[in-house]
Amino acid sequence: MVAGNWKMNTTPTEGKALVKAVMDKVPNPSTKVVFGVPAIQLMEIQELVKGHPNYAVAAQNMHQEESGAYTGELSAAMLVDAGIEYVILGHSERRDYAGEDDDLINLKINQALKHGLKPIYCCGEKLDIRQAGNQEVVVGRQIEQALSSLEADQLSQVVIAYEPVWAIGTGVTASNEQAQQMHANIRRMITNQFGSEVANNLTILYGGSVKPNNAAELFAEPDVDGGLVGGASLDADSFAAIINAVR
Ligand code: PGA
Repeated sequence: MVAGNWKMNTTPTEGKALVKAVMDKVPNPSTKVVFGVPAIQLMEIQELVKGHPNYAVAAQNMHQEESGAYTGELSAAMLVDAGIEYVILGHSERRDYAGEDDDLINLKINQALKHGLKPIYCCGEKLDIRQAGNQEVVVGRQIEQALSSLEADQLSQVVIAYEPVWAIGTGVTASNEQAQQMHANIRRMITNQFGSEVANNLTILYGGSVKPNNAAELFAEPDVDGGLVGGASLDADSFAAIINAVR
């Protein structure tokens, strides 16, 4: 899978043009391609990908409650009714700016699954944690807190994105070895908790400065099943090249 996270970029006019350009360049992707678009564009972009087997849309966030007095929020039911298939949850920017923690993200994941929305759960360590060599402990804890209450069959609907915070938007990418090592570790944890069948079928994306010139080698690692792409997903040529880097 290759998912683009546009964050707070593109107007509706620009977003439509971007999706059309990507779909023109890669009419039949060999992998699932997901556009993570701003809320105001969800329905319009969903119309553009509708009926295509390999293109889908993700919301960038969602509220954990069913409905009610939550000004400015989107519910799982709204997203599902609009035809949206995925929701990005737990992105490090929301952890930082909106104070989201793994207990809250766990509620959101459960709420998404209850409605048949597929969560793309983001985890990853900050630079000081990596420098201290504690990344596996910290990411392990994130995964445990966010996912441990799930049943094995629910996990087949979840995508995990490993995004080391020090690599997001910095131009610094984790090395292939660093990515592979963490992905293998995540898969091991999932094996221990949910069994090897669930773990082997799990999609684990790498995110953090994925670009056309590093995508193919990252995706070639045995436990890297694709990418969650920020900056480079805003350029049709770059995003198309990253989609085509999946073998
Ligand atoms: P980046 O962002 O590709 O711009 O580093 C990745 C992300 O935040 O998902």
